[in-house]
Amino acid sequence: MSLTCVLAIANQKGGVGKTTTSINLAAALALKKKKTLLIDLDPQSNATIAFFDSAEIQTSMYDVFADHPAEIAKVIRPTKDPNLFVAPGKLALARLEQQLAGQFDAPYKLKDALSPIVKDFDFIIFDTPPALGILTVNALVASTHLLVPIQAAYFAIEGTDDLLETYARIRSRPNPDLKVLGVVITLFDKRTNISRDTHEQIRAVFGDALFKTRISKNVRLEESPAYKETVFAYAPKSSGAEDYRKLAQEVLHRVQEDRVARHSQDAA
Ligand code: ADP
Ligand code: MG
Repeated sequence: MSLTCVLAIANQKGGVGKTTTSINLAAALALKKKKTLLIDLDPQSNATIAFFDSAEIQTSMYDVFADHPAEIAKVIRPTKDPNLFVAPGKLALARLEQQLAGQFDAPYKLKDALSPIVKDFDFIIFDTPPALGILTVNALVASTHLLVPIQAAYFAIEGTDDLLETYARIRSRPNPDLKVLGVVITLFDKRTNISRDTHEQIRAVFGDALFKTRISKNVRLEESPAYKETVFAYAPKSSGAEDYRKLAQEVLHRVQEDRVARHSQDAA
């Protein structure tokens, strides 16, 4: 069994902190010396633009899904952090919904493409688009774990039903080993009743799946992508950096616990 944690960050709502979490969780794990690959599957490519100028990007994840696919190893780019790598996204990814429609192996393209390189990384993290289309399905089929960011706002839980139903369907057939690593509250503001109320609501629904770490609102998290920096390079002492450091610690802990649990299952 591979020891790589392949983690899809998903929630079909936009603006809930998927990309911010993908970038800064990946960066925090890399700082903890975990060799980490961030794969941008969102046509909007916000995660990619946080590292590179779009003009620099010749090959992207789009080419990995193409009819004559590029090797993913040729798409992966180094970053300033020697433990952090990025496979860029591109607007063209949006064309895949139509292009892949009707191909019997459409949901498996990403899993197949990754197989030669999975073992090279400790963590592979997918940033996904705000939809439950073919790209998110590819991410869930290729993943060992799912992490769901939920914004501390009214109606935050609405829509997670659809995500959890997709998760259950993928578990029932293509990927029975997929697990929810956890749910993380984002854009939290402890001064507002909305944040406190929704926190209680989310805890009632998700119970132990909820990470103890909450990601608070922090303007440094919003600013850092514009400077092509992760929050750790841009504002290492900010609350945003501290929150993502803590989340990475919890992620490492849960992955370790899960490994022990799976190992004892295998042994039984
Ligand atoms: P998604 O990928 O789910 O659409 P993003 O990560 O792009 O969400 O976040 C949406 C917007 O909110 C972005 O402008 C981002 O910079 C900002 N944002 C995300 N998390 C935080 C946070 N904890 N504090 C302040 N701004 C945030
Ligand atoms: Mg995004």
